[in-house]
Amino acid sequence: MRQEYDVIVIGCGPAGATVAAVLAGKGRRVVVLEREKFPRYHIGESLIPFTYFPLKRIGMVEKMKASHFTKKYSVQFVTQDGRLSHPFYFFKHLQHEAACTWQVLRSEFDQMLMDNAREKGAEVIEEITVREFIQENGYVTGVRAVTKTGETREFCAPLTADASGRDALAITRNGWKVRDPYLNKVAIWTYYKGALRDPGIDEGATTVAYVPEKGWFWYIPLAGDVVSVGIVAEKDYLFQGTKDLAEIFHREVKKNRWIEEHLAVGEQFGPYRVTGEYSYRSRHCAADGLVLVGDAFAFLDPVFSSGVFLALRSGELAADAIDAALTDGDYSAARFVEYGKTVCQGIEAMRRLVYAFYDHAFSFRTFVRTYPNLIGDMTDCLIGNLFIDFDPLFKAVADFAKVPQPLTHGAPLIAAK
Ligand SMILES: Cc1cc2nc3c(=O)[nH]c(=O)nc-3n(C[C@H](O)[C@H](O)[C@H](O)COP(=O)(O)OP(=O)(O)OC[C@H]3O[C@@H](n4cnc5c(N)ncnc54)[C@H](O)[C@@H]3O)c2cc1C
Repeated sequence: MRQEYDVIVIGCGPAGATVAAVLAGKGRRVVVLEREKFPRYHIGESLIPFTYFPLKRIGMVEKMKASHFTKKYSVQFVTQDGRLSHPFYFFKHLQHEAACTWQVLRSEFDQMLMDNAREKGAEVIEEITVREFIQENGYVTGVRAVTKTGETREFCAPLTADASGRDALAITRNGWKVRDPYLNKVAIWTYYKGALRDPGIDEGATTVAYVPEKGWFWYIPLAGDVVSVGIVAEKDYLFQGTKDLAEIFHREVKKNRWIEEHLAVGEQFGPYRVTGEYSYRSRHCAADGLVLVGDAFAFLDPVFSSGVFLALRSGELAADAIDAALTDGDYSAARFVEYGKTVCQGIEAMRRLVYAFYDHAFSFRTFVRTYPNLIGDMTDCLIGNLFIDFDPLFKAVADFAKVPQPLTHGAPLIAAK
């Protein structure tokens, strides 16, 4: 049985839910196919201020304000010997209510995004896994999916948005994954109840705490007195001597006094989780009848919590490009040239900062002391104001750290006709 829509969206994470909400809001017939039954667990809990703007566009800001999510006013860095340095308070730079953002429980946040897409008129089907793209004359014209009970269903639409996250359906099917050779880290994380929270507005800060070899901990205070805490480092460093996740995690905790002290009063619960294969970008952001959004297009090391923002923002940009393509009846890859350029520009800004972070010669403290005039630009990057000119900032960063050239891939696959 084939069903016809204007747009098929694969996956209902932040990227897919945004594509769906924007397009359904414009009166398009949208179906979202989501593999899991929501609410479901997901990592990626710390938002940055500029998530506010896509959230505002899809009608989520009031819902966020009414939620119990922890308010986040800053990001702070802790040296290896446990000293707290340089909290970046967002409101010092951004005089807008967006300066206060949130630490979210992704199970609840993603459910809210899914409900919101439904409210806007999108049809969301859960527990259905997209297995393959249907192609006609070189265009993706639909997908074949399998339900929980094993029934195969076909969905047709002139455009499909792949928002399948790090499962990255189109990348995998087409062999488009290009890994970032340098940003190749592993994360091990877990949760604590009752761990130490800093006083006042620092209670909800994201803390990035260094361990040797440019490894780092995240410490993210969530609602319900829960803290999400994880270590990110090179695989060879983390797995030296043992493969036991709990053992590795607690060995590393001992290497940063601030983390150790903050966790000492809390109680660990739930599994120790692991993920690898960090940063990649697809060779192409689109093909005829197909566009890639969020992590299904690119994933960047999460040290600056940019993933959800990039998912929301790319979702919004893709939805606008899809809407224009539908209006013109032209579903070719060429419609997504601007989309690809803009998303890659945003990713590149963050990527340069991530490279600097991992460079042994770079420290935020020294940088802002040397270039106090560039604190504003640095903060722009950290809050997600990514679509501006960062050349002056990274010219200065290059005094301390190797700044990478932009990657050249990521444009649409424009077939020779
Ligand atoms: C260790 C780690 C820490 C992170 N920390 C942060 C952070 O603090 N802040 C931040 O902003 N980001 C963080 N991120 C990144 C963040 O998790 C992602 O960038 C974000 O979730 C991307 O959203 P998305 O919608 O593209 O994909 P996802 O949120 O992964 O959603 C994809 C959806 O597609 C569904 N799906 C997959 N395959 C199929 C299929 N074949 N058919 C149907 N449905 C399918 C999945 O079930 C899922 O619901 C972190 C990531 C990692 C790995």
